Amino acid sequence: MNEEDIKKKLTPEEYKVLRQKGTEAPFSGKLLHDKRTGTYQCKVCGADLFSSESKFDSGTGWPSFDEALPSAVGLKQDTTHGMVRTEVVCKNCGSHLGHLFDDGPTKTGKRYCLNSVCLDLI
Ligand SMILES: [Zn+2]
Repeated sequence: MNEEDIKKKLTPEEYKVLRQKGTEAPFSGKLLHDKRTGTYQCKVCGADLFSSESKFDSGTGWPSFDEALPSAVGLKQDTTHGMVRTEVVCKNCGSHLGHLFDDGPTKTGKRYCLNSVCLDLI
C-alpha cells in the first residue's frame, strides 16, 4: 500500500497519529474502556499487535498493555518534545502506535501506551 492509499483509508485524525506520529487527546479513544476479549490489530495493515489479555487500566487516558504479541511491534528511540522515549511502531508497516515505558504495574514491568485510533479490536 502506498502513502496515498493509506491516506484514503484513514480518517484525518487517524492519519495524523499513525503516519505523522501524532497523539490523540487522552480519554478520547473509543477502545480505552473496551473490555471485550480479542486481538488488537494495526488500523493500517491489519497485523495482530496486542491481545486483550495484556490490556490494563493505567489511568493515563490511553489504552495500555503490558506485553505485545511476539514480533508484532518495533521499538525506536524518540527524542522529540525534549524527552527521550521509546516509540512503538507496527513491525509490519511501520505505522506509529504510541510509546513504551518501563513503569508498568504488572509482572512484565512494561507499559505500552497506545493511541486508540491506531487499533482495531477483532
Ligand atoms: Zn501495520
